[in-house]
Amino acid sequence: MKALSDFFFHLYAKTVVLLVFLLIEFIILIRKLKTHTPPITISQYLQLIEEKSPTVCFTRTLNMADQLECRVCLSELREGENVRNLKCKHTFHKECLDRWLLQFWATCPLCRNRVLPEDVVTSYRRLRNQRELIIFPFWDSSED
Ligand SMILES: [Zn+2]
Ligand SMILES: [Zn+2]
Repeated sequence: MKALSDFFFHLYAKTVVLLVFLLIEFIILIRKLKTHTPPITISQYLQLIEEKSPTVCFTRTLNMADQLECRVCLSELREGENVRNLKCKHTFHKECLDRWLLQFWATCPLCRNRVLPEDVVTSYRRLRNQRELIIFPFWDSSED
């Protein structure tokens, strides 16, 4: 009887060791996957912009910097239009700013203040490098 219980004890011990080993392997695998995260997609990037600077309806009172035109398209900001207010207090049409942020560095078109965290920008840049001319092939990049 003792031999049998010894046998089961060893079996149990070996199983525990094996499980611990598998767990460690699993943790290492997860870490590897984390360090090799793929570049963020355009929709994720736009979602992050939305989180940082939510779309709002333009009103005169909201306009903190007395800025009356969108400096991307150079047209007047009108009441009721969808705009984004950046932390630097600059206001732009939602579409104009999104297009700008997708095409250029993720900074304010006016004061170059950073709109998104550096790691997000780096990740997005990797994606952009992969498909440089596919995103906005007709956007005039000479405009500053
Ligand atoms: Zn605009
Ligand atoms: Zn700004």
